Amino acid sequence: MPYLTEPEPERGLATEVAPGIRRIVAGNPGLMTYHGTNTYLIETGEGVVVLDPGPDDTAHVAAILAATRGRIASILLSHTHSDHLGALPALQAQSGASTFAFHRSADPAFQPDVPLRDGDRVAGLIAIHTPGHAGDHLCFARPDGVVFSADHVMTWSSSVVSPPGGDMAAYFQSLRRMLKREDRLLLPGHGPPLPNPAPYIRELLENRIKREDAIAQALREGPYRPHDLVDRLYSQTHPWLRQAAERNVLAHLIKLRSEGRATQLDQSWTMGSSLGDG
Ligand SMILES: [Zn+2]
Repeated sequence: MPYLTEPEPERGLATEVAPGIRRIVAGNPGLMTYHGTNTYLIETGEGVVVLDPGPDDTAHVAAILAATRGRIASILLSHTHSDHLGALPALQAQSGASTFAFHRSADPAFQPDVPLRDGDRVAGLIAIHTPGHAGDHLCFARPDGVVFSADHVMTWSSSVVSPPGGDMAAYFQSLRRMLKREDRLLLPGHGPPLPNPAPYIRELLENRIKREDAIAQALREGPYRPHDLVDRLYSQTHPWLRQAAERNVLAHLIKLRSEGRATQLDQSWTMGSSLGDG
């Protein structure tokens, strides 16, 4: 995959990534987060909108408040993973802004002030329900072809799809949906901006299809546990990356089962359908 890289961003600074859009990269670098979570400050007719407050980090909240002079029209949330949601309570307490997020929150401890559904409009942006990485995942699109893809499409890495919150069948559908949109510029939740994202998204989808076919093929010699399939199909050795790969494999297996291409036998999986039509 032609994944993108960028130098480590200057911490605590809001820098312009597109007309009317600034980005602050939170100080939570890691194997799953790249340089950190991207918090976007979007100029709208209603004032500055914050998309994804980021992790629970006092310095990051202070940076957002400084860059917006504390005047935040509203706070949008792409999904309820802690590296996007963690700073929300502090940011909301200090700005008084309302939160907008998908109406079925995947985090029982969080409910948005304004629940969003697919196609809803907020501050000139359109919410696009894109389950797969997370059941409550939203992308947001500006009418001029800028799309905030959060963790649905990241530019520095593929996304982890970890059941039960992650759903590979939904992820495939959501990728196909993004492909149809013909956006001009993609701004992800982690990693640098990507102009003309369609070829990249197409390649992400093709890689997932190849991976899934390889899993289905391997099951002919099974049964295997997800762990065994990672040994066979992945070159990763870092324990965290192996664990992420194992979650992705499990998500593929569940999708294959729903299509009658795999059967679960206790902890391991084999080819075919338990319905007897293989
Ligand atoms: Zn996430």
